[in-house]
Amino acid sequence: KTFAASGLPEKVLECCKSFEKPSPIQSRAWPFLLDGRDLIGIAATGSGKTLAFGIPAIMHVMSKRKSKVSKGRNPLCLVLSPTRELAQQISDVMCDAGRSCGVESICLYGGTSKGPQISSLKSGIDIVIGTPGRIKDLIEMGVCSLKEVSFVVLDEADRMLDMGFEQAVRSILGQTCSVRQMVMFSATWPLPVHNLAQEFMDPNPVKV
Ligand code: AMP
Repeated sequence: KTFAASGLPEKVLECCKSFEKPSPIQSRAWPFLLDGRDLIGIAATGSGKTLAFGIPAIMHVMSKRKSKVSKGRNPLCLVLSPTRELAQQISDVMCDAGRSCGVESICLYGGTSKGPQISSLKSGIDIVIGTPGRIKDLIEMGVCSLKEVSFVVLDEADRMLDMGFEQAVRSILGQTCSVRQMVMFSATWPLPVHNLAQEFMDPNPVKV
């Protein structure tokens, strides 16, 4: 498969111009995610999974903003990650990928002051990437509204639950749109991850 065969607009593929072709996970996930399906991915880091969900997230923002479904500029996409390091990596990729499309991402994590994060949220943002604890704090402070979020990614879901974020993840998901598209990546599939998927995802998600 080639990038041209993906049918994605050229400006969205700007960030891929140094790559020869989509990675296997990208060519498998893109058609389903662009079609609005929920998706479960078992993929290792290094597989290109960030852009596997990142490009559909950018497309989601572009189509919502164009059809004026959302007023103002509350975030439309949310990516939850277990650690600050991983969140920052995802955010770097998303900021770079969104630049050519005018789609802005922000990274929210704990262990650092809230002020700059609150200012960025106030300036209006399209995609929020972060760790569950800090995002939950910012929601409770009333400075982060997820009510327009209709595309959600849980990255490294198994690790996120292992680290004790289950309650935070559940409470955050409860703040998003009831009609939403969901993507879950996990290296393993233990019962708590299975239960979370059953509760919050379509009964028949695509598995890649
Ligand atoms: P990830 O699994 O998302 O952490 O990506 C791992 C690495 O693969 C990153 O350095 C990406 O820049 C790179 N990458 C992502 N997509 C592709 C692709 N289609 N072809 C080659 N490398 C890629």
